[in-house]
Amino acid sequence: MQTKLLINGEFVAGADRAEKVLNPRDGSEIVDVPEASVEQVDAAVNGAVEAFAGWSRSTPAERAAALLRIADRIEAAGEDFGRLEALNCGKPINAAIGDEVPAIVDTFRFFAGAVRNMHGPVAGEYLQGHTSMIRRDPVGVVASVAPWNYPLMMMAWKLAPALAGGNTVVFKPSEQTPLTALACARILAEELPKGVISVIAGRGETVGTALVNHPKVEMISLTGDVATGKKMLQAASKSVKRTHLELGGKAPVIVFDDADLDAVVEGLRAFGYYNAGQDCTAACRIYVAQKSYDRLVADLTSAVSGIAFDRADDTENEIGPLISARQRDRVASFVERARDLRHVEITTGGQSHGRSGFYYAPTVVAGARQQDEIVQREVFGPVVSVTPFSDVDQAVAWANDSDYGLASSVWTRDLGRAMSTAARLRYGCTWVNTHFMLTNEMPHGGLKSSGYGKDMSMYALEDYTVARHIMLKH
Ligand code: NAD
Repeated sequence: MQTKLLINGEFVAGADRAEKVLNPRDGSEIVDVPEASVEQVDAAVNGAVEAFAGWSRSTPAERAAALLRIADRIEAAGEDFGRLEALNCGKPINAAIGDEVPAIVDTFRFFAGAVRNMHGPVAGEYLQGHTSMIRRDPVGVVASVAPWNYPLMMMAWKLAPALAGGNTVVFKPSEQTPLTALACARILAEELPKGVISVIAGRGETVGTALVNHPKVEMISLTGDVATGKKMLQAASKSVKRTHLELGGKAPVIVFDDADLDAVVEGLRAFGYYNAGQDCTAACRIYVAQKSYDRLVADLTSAVSGIAFDRADDTENEIGPLISARQRDRVASFVERARDLRHVEITTGGQSHGRSGFYYAPTVVAGARQQDEIVQREVFGPVVSVTPFSDVDQAVAWANDSDYGLASSVWTRDLGRAMSTAARLRYGCTWVNTHFMLTNEMPHGGLKSSGYGKDMSMYALEDYTVARHIMLKH
C-alpha cells in the first residue's frame, strides 16, 4: 500500500509520528502512515513556490491536457480507487466505485474544459486615450486541506480548479482517510511538473497548522468543520492569505401538503442517509405540513427501517458505518439527548449496531421542535428529524433559523409556491422536488457559518484566480 508522501516530486516516508488508519467496518488497523515533519511541510511549500513560475505561465491548453490525462488514469484505475476508498471509509463498494469515481473523473474533465473557456468584461477605452483589459491570474501557492467523508472527491474538487487556474498546491487529506490521496499522488507526480502538487499526510493540529501558517502560502482552502474554518481565518490573518471555506451544513427540507409523499419518502430515504449521513448537504431536518405529518412519519419510519447495512455481501449494502468510534459515539449522544425530551419519539433506529465496527442504525427522530439540539446542530450521521409546521411563513422562518446555510429543498406540486419559497431561503442551494444532486457545471457552497467560496463550476475557477486590471496609455 502506498503510504509515502509526495514532496516536491519525491516519494518519501513521513518523518514524524505514525498515525493508525482504521477500517471502520471492524475497527481493525489497515496501515500506519507516518506524518510529515515541519521540515517536510516546508520543503513541500518551497517546492510549490519554485514550480509556480513555470506552471503559472503554462497555457490553458497545456494545463487542460494534464487534467485530462489525470482524469483518464483515475478512470482506468477506478475499481482500485473505489476499493481503497471503501476500505478506508467503510463505504459500500457500489457507492464508491459506481457513484464517486465517475464524479471525480468528471470534475477533472470539467475544469480541463472550463479553463479554456473563461469569459470576462471586454477590453475597451474607459478613459480617453487608455485601453483597459482584465486578466485572471493564479493566486499562488494554495494550502488545501480536506475532510474524511469523501476523501478523493474532495481532493478532486480542490485540486482541479486550483491547478486549472495555474496555482501550485500542497494538499493534506484527513489523517483518518489519507489512502486514496496518497495513491493518487503517484498519478499526479507522473502527469504534472515537479512541485506543482505535493501531498502530505498528518493531523490537523500538527501538519495542518504548519501548512496553513506557512508564510509562503498565499491561499488556504478548507473543507471541514466550522471550528476548523475559524482557525484557518486566524492563520490567514497573519499574512492576509485568501481563504476558501466549505464548512458544515444542516439542510432543511420543506414538505408542503400537496407534495407527492411517496416521492418525498423515497427521496429522504436516499438523501438523508447516503454515506451514513456524513454529508454536509444531507436532508436531515424535515419540516412537514401538519396535515401530512402522521403519514410522512409512518412511511418514512417504515422505509428507513429497511435500509440495508452491515450485510455480509457488501454489494447489498446501501450505507456503511460511521468513520470512527468517536463519530459513532457523538451521533449516539445526540440521539440520547433527543430521546430524553418528552415530545420526541425515536420511531426507528436509535442505537449503535454490531460489536466491532462503527455502525449506527438509520434513525428517525419524530416530533422534534425548532429549538431542540437535534434540529439546530449538525449530527453528521444517519439521523433525520421531523417537525410539523402550520404555514409557509413558519416553515421558512424555521428553515432559515440556523447558523448554517449550505443546502435546502422544497417539495410541492405547485411550482409557483416552490419558486417563491426557494427565493426566501438563505442557502447556497435549494432543490425543488429533489435533494442532494450535484453537477460539475453548477456551484456548490454556502452562506453564513457554512462558509464561502464555491466548489465546482466556473465560480470555483474564479475563486482560485485573481482579477487584474491592465491599462495601457495610447
Ligand atoms: P475537520 O474540520 O475536523 O477536519 C478537516 C480537515 O482539517 C482535516 O484534514 C484535518 O486534519 C484538518 N484540520 C483540523 N484542524 C486543523 C488545524 N488546526 N489546522 C489545519 N488543519 C486542520 O472536519 P472533518 O471532521 O474531517 O469533516 C467533517 C466536517 O466537514 C463536517 O462539519 C462537514 O459538514 C464538513 N464538510 C463540509 C463540506 C462542504 O462542502 N461544505 C463537505 C464535506 C464536509
